[in-house]
Amino acid sequence: MDKLFPKYYPLVDIGEGIKMPMFPTDHAKVIRTKCKYYLSETPIHTYRLFANGKADDEEFDVCCPYCHSVMSPISIYADVKVTTYVCEQCMFKTINKKEN
Ligand SMILES: [Zn+2]
Repeated sequence: MDKLFPKYYPLVDIGEGIKMPMFPTDHAKVIRTKCKYYLSETPIHTYRLFANGKADDEEFDVCCPYCHSVMSPISIYADVKVTTYVCEQCMFKTINKKEN
């Protein structure tokens, strides 16, 4: 069986405070050393944001790797602040598909 998760998406700044995911990779080590920002995909269209040396107050929008809509951030406070993004567009499509 193919290993589906996690997939990592390097984030590239495309201006106006928007970051766009590039082609996914499952080479965690490469992405950790090369990319300042990246997403890790978890099931059901949620993406965890990773940042190497991110300034805490830096704000930007992150687009969905599939439909390129701006996603909604959800911050979870544990030992460290973890930001997760949810694509409502894709989530909605998935839900509709299941109902049909
Ligand atoms: Zn989407």
